[in-house]
Amino acid sequence: MCVFCKIIAGEIPSKKAYEDEDVLAIYDINPQAPVHIVFMPKEHLLTCADDIRPENAEIIGKIFAAISKVAKDLGLKDGYRIINNCGAAAGQTVMHIHFHLLAGKADMSERMV
Ligand code: 5GP
Ligand code: ZN
Repeated sequence: MCVFCKIIAGEIPSKKAYEDEDVLAIYDINPQAPVHIVFMPKEHLLTCADDIRPENAEIIGKIFAAISKVAKDLGLKDGYRIINNCGAAAGQTVMHIHFHLLAGKADMSERMV
C-alpha cells in the first residue's frame, strides 16, 4: 500500500484540511510554503496528471472543486499555486495522483515544491 493509501486507511495519522466521500486533503508533512495542502482521490487509480483520461473527469473535477473550496475557506485571496509532479525526475515521490496547493509566499514566481 502506498503512503497516501495508508493515510486514507487511517494507518498513518495526518492533519486533514478537507474530506468527502471521494477526496482527501491533508497538510503536507514537509511544507514548502506557509499553506501547503495535498489533495488526492481516496481511490488509488492514477499515478499522476499524465494518466488523466476523459473517463477520469468526474474525480479530477471533484478534486479541483475541493481545492477551490479550501482556498476560499482559508481566505487565500492573494492567489495560490497548484502543482502536480509527474514522474520521479520531476520530483514525484508518492505514486498516487495528488495536487499540491501552495500559498502564502511573498514571491510566488519561485519554484515552490
Ligand atoms: P510528491 O513529491 O510526490 O509530489 O509529493 C508527495 C508529498 O507528500 C511531499 O510533499 C511529502 O512531503 C508529502 N508526504 C509524504 N509522506 C507524508 C506523510 O506521511 N504525511 C503527510 N502529511 N505528507 C507526506
Ligand atoms: Zn495509494
